[in-house]
Amino acid sequence: MRSTDVVIIGAGAAGMMCALTAAQRGRRVLLLDSSNKPGKKILMSGGGRCNFTNMWAEPANYASVNPHFCKSALARYTPWDFVALVDKHGIPYHEKKLGQLFCDHKSKAILQLLLTECEDAGVELHVNTPVREIERAGDGYRLTCDLGEIACTSLVVATGGLSIPTLGATGFGYDVARRFGHNVLPTRAGLVPFTVSGKLKDLCHALSGTSADAVVRCNGESFRENILFTHRGLSGPAILQISSFWNPGDTVEIDLLPDRDALEWLQGQQAARPNSELKTVLGELFTRKMAGLLADRWFTSRPMKQYNPAELREIADRLGAWRVVPAGTEGYRTAEVTLGGVDPREVSSQTMESRKSPGLYFIGEVLDVTGHLGGFNFQWAWASAHAAAQVV
Ligand SMILES: Cc1cc2nc3c(=O)[nH]c(=O)nc-3n(C[C@H](O)[C@H](O)[C@H](O)COP(=O)(O)OP(=O)(O)OC[C@H]3O[C@@H](n4cnc5c(N)ncnc54)[C@H](O)[C@@H]3O)c2cc1C
Repeated sequence: MRSTDVVIIGAGAAGMMCALTAAQRGRRVLLLDSSNKPGKKILMSGGGRCNFTNMWAEPANYASVNPHFCKSALARYTPWDFVALVDKHGIPYHEKKLGQLFCDHKSKAILQLLLTECEDAGVELHVNTPVREIERAGDGYRLTCDLGEIACTSLVVATGGLSIPTLGATGFGYDVARRFGHNVLPTRAGLVPFTVSGKLKDLCHALSGTSADAVVRCNGESFRENILFTHRGLSGPAILQISSFWNPGDTVEIDLLPDRDALEWLQGQQAARPNSELKTVLGELFTRKMAGLLADRWFTSRPMKQYNPAELREIADRLGAWRVVPAGTEGYRTAEVTLGGVDPREVSSQTMESRKSPGLYFIGEVLDVTGHLGGFNFQWAWASAHAAAQVV
């Protein structure tokens, strides 16, 4: 049986960061992945340009059963620490918006950065290597995989969440957690498009590809960004953000006229352009297609002067607070993240070490820490990995 200091299961963002940092400390690190390639999600991320961090990342950008859990790790490994690494490798990047840092070119540059740092530090990486069994052995752990039996002092679980099974996602990390006495909080898809049904589906289908600036609200959270109509429902950054706070049956409220009092604006338009049709007036704010479809399907488009005060108020209510009850979400097939996971109340926020089983660590998305859209999830992967890597 071979032995090593650290075995890390999962060569994604968190696993690679933990491996390279621990190896730089002189630890012997074995990094195992069941998939045929490391870092598949990194390659897919940010539409192929990897939104690798967010300059303004702070604990408020994360949802968790324990909102304090992420604080220590995020404070000790900041977005600027990762930016320094990106600079060291000469990877060009830019801020797209709202502090979101993207590669100028392909996401592959970030994967290459991690692989190069792993190699330079002496990490031993094996893909196509699922772990079959794990047992506690003395002060450490014993694993069985295709490499044979391996003994290690520290075992790090970095297997991510359930989203996008075709990219290698499995529930293995949750199984390991349960096996060693951990509570796993119920999981569901996050940062995911909504599906709708009935007349709303017809409207979304007719408008598919159209986007609009909006404020989207649900369960006390709100986001101001674009929404996008799709063939099956609603997507776009504002919808993806709110999906992480939505539960089946909840109503989502969409303000299609952010920055304005809808009624005041409509009254102003009625006074200024009494003979213009509603669809023409709405065309000031939305694409012509969207203005026409909303005016016809929701209100029956007429010249503005023909609407009485009650009708105008109805139009304002609909545009300023459109209430949608999604039929569901597109699920793990397209979700960017998994909500829920290993209960952080049973893990040290300083080191990511299990409070149930010494020497066992959980990092990255497998934990119940879920970032908003915009580079926050990778920042959590880097920061939690870095915290564990100091002590494994
Ligand atoms: C399409 C898409 C785009 C995204 N874009 C962004 C973005 O631009 N910015 C951002 O911040 N976040 C983004 N995310 C989220 C981000 O990718 C994840 O939050 C992040 O990758 C989590 O890192 P992780 O290391 O915890 O898990 P992962 O990166 O998912 O890595 C887990 C690894 O574990 C391996 N594994 C799974 N099961 C086993 C097993 N049984 N044995 C061994 N290995 C196993 C997997 O093969 C994988 O390599 C995106 C996600 C998706 C799906």
